[in-house]
Amino acid sequence: DTGQPLIEARALSAGYGARPVVSDLDIEVRPGEVVALLGPNGAGKTTTLRVLSGDLTPMGGEVLWLGTSGHAPLHRRAREGLAYVGERAVFSRLDTADNLRVGRVRAERALALFPELEKRMKTGGGMLSGGEQQMLSLARALSRDPKLLLADELSLGLAPLVVDRLLRAVREAADQGLGALLVEQHVRKVLDIADRVYVLSRGRVTMTGTPKELRGQLDAIESSYLANH
Ligand code: ATP
Repeated sequence: DTGQPLIEARALSAGYGARPVVSDLDIEVRPGEVVALLGPNGAGKTTTLRVLSGDLTPMGGEVLWLGTSGHAPLHRRAREGLAYVGERAVFSRLDTADNLRVGRVRAERALALFPELEKRMKTGGGMLSGGEQQMLSLARALSRDPKLLLADELSLGLAPLVVDRLLRAVREAADQGLGALLVEQHVRKVLDIADRVYVLSRGRVTMTGTPKELRGQLDAIESSYLANH
């Protein structure tokens, strides 16, 4: 038992305008666990992260944050220990050092996570490689010691070695108590570090379990992705 969930969705639905994009979600993340949220394009993964983070208001059901029900905007959740890493979150006109300063992160904390950023401290965000940008985004999020990390496609389009590097950093932070919910396209790689998995299709959770339990259905999960590309 890892104690009370950091975040919990109960019969949660959310969307844009009148139509829910995700419905009847029951999802939880506990301290110390890495949870993968998988599913094809358009399944509603980003919408799920946005409503959990407070960026979207629920249309039905509820979100409990640290055991308490109720909606609060993302900026407040951020102060309370929720880190959201969305699409590339690097300021392209600021160098790495200033990107860290804007995030109120001490450079040495970020460098302890990703020493490879040291030689890029004076490089503009827009000149960093995709992998370096994601290391910077993740370093900025993790250096503030969040309780929960919600990350949307951290490793999109990155080389396999960089993907491993980012996922390993999340796993190590979780081993120190962080809870993480990761939307990932690299199904096999994220299953190597995840404790549990939710598979979303058409806005609903259609499978859940440990990577071991889902291993036999990997081909089905992956082909559902391909069918949507
Ligand atoms: P992808 O991997 O393509 O990002 P996803 O699983 O993250 O897919 P969402 O981005 O949550 O899925 O999108 C789910 C559905 O909601 C899609 O049909 C999409 O067109 C719609 N949608 C997403 N964002 C908005 C928005 N801001 N306004 C209206 N509809 C939206």
